[in-house]
Amino acid sequence: MSPVAINEALVQSLESIADPQELIGEIFRRFGDRAAIGTSGQLTGCVMVDLAVKAGVKPRVFTIDTLRLFPETYELFAAVEKKYSLKVEKIQPEPTKLKEMIREQGEFLFFDSKEKQEFCCDLRKVEPNERVLGTLDVWLTGLRSDQSKARAGTSRFEIIPHGPNKRPILKVAALVDWTEERLRKYCEEHQVPVHKLLFWERDGWRYESLGCVICTTPIGPYEPRRAGRWRWFNALEGGDKECGLHVVRKDEV
Ligand code: SF4
Repeated sequence: MSPVAINEALVQSLESIADPQELIGEIFRRFGDRAAIGTSGQLTGCVMVDLAVKAGVKPRVFTIDTLRLFPETYELFAAVEKKYSLKVEKIQPEPTKLKEMIREQGEFLFFDSKEKQEFCCDLRKVEPNERVLGTLDVWLTGLRSDQSKARAGTSRFEIIPHGPNKRPILKVAALVDWTEERLRKYCEEHQVPVHKLLFWERDGWRYESLGCVICTTPIGPYEPRRAGRWRWFNALEGGDKECGLHVVRKDEV
């Protein structure tokens, strides 16, 4: 497969494809394994896999396996692999660095300060994500504009710089304007495997966002969607509750 340039002309050619199934299919046909769906197990990721398969392509799919995921998350990926006959690549933290962090700062360093939480997220999520991005030209993400204030302005297409050479990668939020309701309806109608915790509810408390155990908790009826992440920092001002995966790194500014 000959390389396709990542530039504004590519964005313009893809922008004309309004239907997400067609768009995802076209991306995998053009880029093959240089494109991948990255998912933490949210409905958006599962729906994108289903749309890709319906578009007649076999998508490359990866997840960042922090080694602190919920058992239900691993169950979901097993179900996705079975239903669609594909392998979900589990990209894990670098073992030596992980051991060193735990030895020096403890397994639960994220309780101590925002800096330590970010350090843990950097090592367990951002670095493995950077590693997998090194193998990609197109990164399909499950970002949606209704997920949080910080994500309200998410674009469907964004060219981001990667690595020291600032190699361009096309980041595509194929379902950016889908609502939670639309996703749930699609999953039901098409028997898409779903994360059990997203369908758990007790006295109005439910999970809206999935991450690591302890750092992810359910949210109450009047809380914003990402309030359940790192709940002990909710009183901090200006916290955008992002783990770093979708934030431009300081060295890329
Ligand atoms: S969500 Fe928590 S455990 Fe997971 S990487 Fe971030 S700080 Fe570490």
